[in-house]
Amino acid sequence: MKKDQPILPASTEPKDFTIATIGSHTALQILKGARDEGMRNLVICKKGSERPYQSYGVADEILTVDDWSEWNEELEEELIKRNAIVIPHGSFIAYMGHERVQDMRAMYYGTKEILHWESDRTMERQWLEKANLKLPRVFAKPEDIDKPVIVKFHGAGGGFGYFVVKTAEQFYEVKNRKYPDQNDFVIQEYILGVPLYIHYFYSPLTKELEIMSFDKRYESNADSIGRIKAQDQLTANIHTSYTIVGNIPVVVRESLLPQFFEMGERVVEVSQDLCGKGLFGPFCLETIVTRKLEVFVFEISARIVAGTNPFIEGSPYTALKYKEPMSTGRRLARDIKQAIEQGRLEEVLG
Ligand code: AMP
Ligand code: AMP
Repeated sequence: MKKDQPILPASTEPKDFTIATIGSHTALQILKGARDEGMRNLVICKKGSERPYQSYGVADEILTVDDWSEWNEELEEELIKRNAIVIPHGSFIAYMGHERVQDMRAMYYGTKEILHWESDRTMERQWLEKANLKLPRVFAKPEDIDKPVIVKFHGAGGGFGYFVVKTAEQFYEVKNRKYPDQNDFVIQEYILGVPLYIHYFYSPLTKELEIMSFDKRYESNADSIGRIKAQDQLTANIHTSYTIVGNIPVVVRESLLPQFFEMGERVVEVSQDLCGKGLFGPFCLETIVTRKLEVFVFEISARIVAGTNPFIEGSPYTALKYKEPMSTGRRLARDIKQAIEQGRLEEVLG
């Protein structure tokens, strides 16, 4: 049974609140962003992962758990006591799981319902199609494969275990060898182009969509395989994997920007028809841009992405708009701060 939500604190003083997150992913910039906006912060770390938060001196308070299963009522009471507003990020969702996020009683920045739309591939596709985005074709069954495809098994965390094939035969060869018991996968048209991750921020207070920055990922071994000639790759039977190791900043061709703004705007608009408050705060469209400059969206992340990490001191784009260094973590804290000051906190909580 769902527990009652605590009553929202009535204070309009940002310093009466604490911005809280889990120690990994984008926690450093979220914590620093809270500080920069004059708010307290707190990080919850799994024992053994506190070091960066201590070393960089960004955390006002560090709580530790032995395991994420310890995210229990006691811990939530600690958060509620501190008027903590929890910021979800990629690792947060990975460690907590969607169910537990739905049941959280502590204040949560963002729309919880949007997680359903993002985590279910069919629903995600409906959303992006409604927003008129160009998506890679999806093949209903392996027998339909008639061109290079990328096969994604559910739970292939961080891109590890994806594979590329171009016939049904090749598909079954890899599947039966590597994933004989798994049947939850998607077969997507392989788009040849460069990956580009577009980092947006939409504030429900200002109703403005901002483009904060762009990145591309540094993936193992996809980003090193080109160092070996094709013939040697075949001889050594090397397969491509996409394990995320880091993120690299990108500045885009300026004439692409109008289209990127429109894409983000449509995604937000459609989300408002799909669920309650719709999508707000930071989000990311994960795209591949082809040589004909077609932009294919292969995924949406409905929260802060780690590709914003290179921009703790702001990006070339935020430098245009803001007088101060504006990271996505700080932009998020500013949204919360303004919501508190304007007595509109409820509008940014899910
Ligand atoms: P971690 O906390 O680093 O173990 O990451 C947990 C999950 O968050 C991973 O499975 C990834 O999906 C995601 N993640 C973490 N770091 C990054 C990153 N730099 N870029 C993209 N995704 C990331
Ligand atoms: P993801 O885990 O969905 O972020 O994807 C991991 C990597 O797979 C991305 O960096 C992309 O380069 C690649 N990828 C995913 N989908 C496609 C696609 N449809 N076509 C080409 N590459 C893709």
